[in-house]
This record gives sequence, C-alpha cells and structure tokens, in this order.
Amino acid sequence: MTLKGKIALVTGASSGIGAATAIKLASHGVKVGLAARRTDRLHAIVQQIRDAGGEAIALEMDVVDESSVQDGVKRLADTFGTIDIVFNNAGLMPISEVDALKTGEWHRMVDVNVKGLLNSTAAVLPYMRAQRSGHIVNTSSIAGRKVYPGLAVYCATKHAVSAFSEGLRMEIGKKHNIRVTSIQPGAVDTELFEHISDQEQRGQMEGLREQMAFLKASDIADTVLFALQAPDYMNVAELFVLPTDQP
Ligand code: NDP
Repeated sequence: MTLKGKIALVTGASSGIGAATAIKLASHGVKVGLAARRTDRLHAIVQQIRDAGGEAIALEMDVVDESSVQDGVKRLADTFGTIDIVFNNAGLMPISEVDALKTGEWHRMVDVNVKGLLNSTAAVLPYMRAQRSGHIVNTSSIAGRKVYPGLAVYCATKHAVSAFSEGLRMEIGKKHNIRVTSIQPGAVDTELFEHISDQEQRGQMEGLREQMAFLKASDIADTVLFALQAPDYMNVAELFVLPTDQP
C-alpha cells in the first residue's frame, strides 16, 4: 500500500527510533507531526525532512499531559487535514531492582510508557473512527514478551503495551477498520540507557554492547514501514525484531 499523502503522528520523535521513523515516513511521502518535549531537536529533524523535500511539523508534546497531547494532535490535523497513522513510541527505561525503591522512576515509566500511549491513542482515535481507516503502531519491546531481573517495572509497562495493543486490535479492527501493530524490538542503539540512574544497571546494559551488535534505529523504522505498507486487508499484529546475537 502506498503511504504517499498519509498523515502521521510520531511520538518520541526527538531521538532514536522515533526520529528515524519520522524521517523514513517522510521520505515515503507521509506528512509527519513529530512530537516530543525537546523542541530544539524536533525543529532540527523537521528542517532535515524539509530539506529533503518532505513535509513535517514539530509538535511540543508531553505525552503524560492529556491536554498537551490533545492540543498537538489537533494542530497536526488542522495543518494537514486528518490523522491516518500514529506511531506511539515515546518511552523511557530508568531501570533498577525493585528493592532499591526508586518509586519516582517507577511512576515515571508507568506515566510515559503506559498512560502516555493511552493519551495519544485517545487523541487520534476520533479522526480514524470518523474516516473508517487508520493504523496505530505501538512500541512495545522484547520486555513486553519476557521478564528480566532488574527490569521488573519496565517489563510491566511493556507487557501492558503488548496487552493493550492486542485488545485494541480485536476491538477496532472489524468495527472501525483500524489496524493495530505492536513492535517488539530487542536491543537498539539509541539514547534509552542514558536515563538509567542506577549505575550497576547502567553498566550492565552498556556491557551488552560488547556482547552483541545492536540494531540501528533505522532498522526499526524499516520494520514500522513494513507493517504500514501491508495491504489494507492485512494487519501485521506483532513484529518481534532482535539482533541476531540476542538470546
Ligand atoms: P530514546 O531515548 O532515543 O527516545 C525516547 C523518546 O521518547 C525521545 O524522543 C523522548 O523525547 C520521548 N519521550 C520521553 N518522555 C516523553 C514525554 N513525557 N513526552 C513525550 N515524549 C517523551 O530511546 P528509543 O528510541 O530507544 O526509545 C523509543 C521507544 O522504543 C521507547 O518506548 C522504548 O521503550 C522502546 N524500545 C527501545 C529499545 C532499545 O533498545 N532502544 C528496545 C525496545 C523498545 P523528549 O525527551 O524530547 O520528550
């Protein structure tokens, strides 16, 4: 299916997987709203897209704040006409063992990874429902399928994303002709580890880089593109994508 002329919201578009996917979509003729909090980063990526002949706008958005999400989505729809695709990708992973009781970081992960994704889903759904078409792509993780010590809360949030994606797919596929895809990457080379305050956990995650060749953010962008380009009658419900070296 051609994506040319479609309109997409990408959350977490200021770095990593979101930035790479926004750039990839724009190169296929998608008009992209890039959402995140770091607007300087967003403006630079938007400029890069425009320089390459694409169409994009920067949307300052904190996915935790429902009104910020509603405002950004409205601005995107007002600018380009509607919303056909959302890549619900904003997320963070400040991991630690539970008995370290870093409760503020637990709440932050639940707020961004789960509630943020619900907020952006709620904001785009009315547009998709009204036009009886759309595609919602959610970034889950290998941590949405498996559980690891040290990552209990992060795994809980990503399991929630996987469960929500599957439930949503069953509810809105036939009823509203909207597709839902859950992307479940293994290790990807991004800024995700930079927010880990627990030095032991951070060291362990950084150490993984010596054990395996991480995926690139653009590999996940290709994966998203694959799901979006599938014919209308085909819903790629889940994509589990790992470095070849990752167990
Ligand atoms: P990055 O840290 O590079 O990107 C995270 C993005 O999320 C940034 O653009 C950041 O933007 C955004 N973000 C964080 N908090 C908020 C918020 N409150 N409101 C809006 N945007 C927010 O990491 P990745 O690209 O790796 O992460 C993208 C997704 O991929 C996450 O959901 C992550 O859990 C998932 N993932 C990553 C894997 C990996 O190995 N890298 C593996 C599997 C899944 P800003 O700070 O500007 O707001």
